[in-house]
Amino acid sequence: MSALPAWLRVEAGSYGEMAKVRSVLSRLGVYTVCEGARCPNVFRCWGEGTATFMILGEVCTRACRFCSVRTGNPRGYVDLDEPRRVAEAVRRLGLRYVVVTSVDRDDLPDGGAFQFASAIREIRRLAPGALVEVLTPDFRGSREAVETVAEAGPDVFAHNVETVRRLTPLVRDRRASYETSLRVLKTAKEVGCRLTKSGIMLGLGESFDEVVEVLDDLRKAEVDIVTIGQYVRPTKSARYLPEARWVPPEEFQKLGEVALSMGFKAVASAPLVRSSYRAEDLYEMALGL
Ligand code: SF4
Ligand code: SF4
Repeated sequence: MSALPAWLRVEAGSYGEMAKVRSVLSRLGVYTVCEGARCPNVFRCWGEGTATFMILGEVCTRACRFCSVRTGNPRGYVDLDEPRRVAEAVRRLGLRYVVVTSVDRDDLPDGGAFQFASAIREIRRLAPGALVEVLTPDFRGSREAVETVAEAGPDVFAHNVETVRRLTPLVRDRRASYETSLRVLKTAKEVGCRLTKSGIMLGLGESFDEVVEVLDDLRKAEVDIVTIGQYVRPTKSARYLPEARWVPPEEFQKLGEVALSMGFKAVASAPLVRSSYRAEDLYEMALGL
């Protein structure tokens, strides 16, 4: 693909704020998806003092064709103090809205669900004013794992379908499936999560109608919030799929309108949108605040 179009170029945020966030995170030894996934919004979010924490380490057992996180086998290692340090970072940074996500941990019997629950509880304990959104893996579709997370009471339960049904085997790791992801979202609602959320990337070769089909499937799973953004290949490495096209802002806007007309309570659809982008705004929108 040609160089990034103007609508995907981001302005740098405050270096001062960014340095402060980075220093707190590195002293506590906690990781962010902002860095791990090379998110284009890092200046803006960190400049505003917002970050998405990545728990359960930096090594993922899966290898999706769009993701820059390292693949490997952590052999069952879990840092039991990690939830406390994440919560401490939330407290020190004075965050009001926190997104907690993780790599996939197919090497753990519960897929890491207990660690998610611990992170939520530790944040409630050390930073009681903060709202918590979790962006979870699919836990191989385990209802029990979703229940474990739900019992800790996240304010938003998110899990991304990432792409349309047809492209799922090409884009996501072979252990992921479109149906499993829909089931995880449906289960989250069934076991009492008040707000559920999912996200997809455009520009991987999907058609407009296929995206509408995803939105329809998500609504059938009673998902409340949806994010739609442009896929940007992390590097030119053959490991990553190339962008099939840069989707113009007008198309994102149209899809956003379609999504709202289908009954989503909150929608973010624009080239730079990522699943945790402006998460607090979407949460408030979904609750009509
Ligand atoms: Fe981090 Fe999410 Fe912002 Fe990206 S959009 S920089 S992942 S908080
Ligand atoms: Fe990245 Fe896929 Fe692993 Fe998620 S499951 S961290 S998207 S490689």
